[in-house]
Amino acid sequence: MTIKHSNNKANQASFPFKLPELPFESNDLEPNMSARTLSFHHGKHHAAYVNNLNTLLEQSDLQKKSLEDLISLTHNDKGNTGIFNNAAQVWNHSFFWHCLSPNGGGKPKGRILDLIDDSFASFEKFKEEFKKSATTQFGSGWAWLLEKDRKLSIVKTANAETPITEGYKAILTCDVWEHAYYLDFQNKRPDYVDTFLDKLVNWEFAESNLG
Ligand code: FE
Repeated sequence: MTIKHSNNKANQASFPFKLPELPFESNDLEPNMSARTLSFHHGKHHAAYVNNLNTLLEQSDLQKKSLEDLISLTHNDKGNTGIFNNAAQVWNHSFFWHCLSPNGGGKPKGRILDLIDDSFASFEKFKEEFKKSATTQFGSGWAWLLEKDRKLSIVKTANAETPITEGYKAILTCDVWEHAYYLDFQNKRPDYVDTFLDKLVNWEFAESNLG
């Protein structure tokens, strides 16, 4: 299927793909997310997905496709699992960096808060549900706030899976792969998720993604 809701912060035109710059300095999120975490997470992990994708595309007839088209065309295609995994991880990470802000966290205002109240009964309920999703994703994956038909929902996805293949518009995500938090929080994923919600989440970016 075609991806309905393009997000130009995460999508990129075509091969060869580039590692996007972080939308903040690597020490701007300290002490909540360290420059060391970002140097590995952005500089090594995200960079590796970009490099792997470019290497796989060197021998592929999909070179002219945009990142979102690649994700959509290779989803559930057993012959192209490598391209899907790396393309989706490039998209997910490019989107994730914008979900973080040096002045982030806490309770949003305005339209995004109204929609959260409508969809989850209260901001506190939203936080509870988002934290539950992020902490109960078994192994590697992502927790997402999504929009479809003017309603918000929360889902978790495993590994590289991304809900944009299911017709949802991504509003916000939290990377819950161990590489996202292990250097700062070791095995304490719940503390990382609390820090994401209380100190880091970029509600202005989330609101800018609403349809
Ligand atoms: Fe990651």
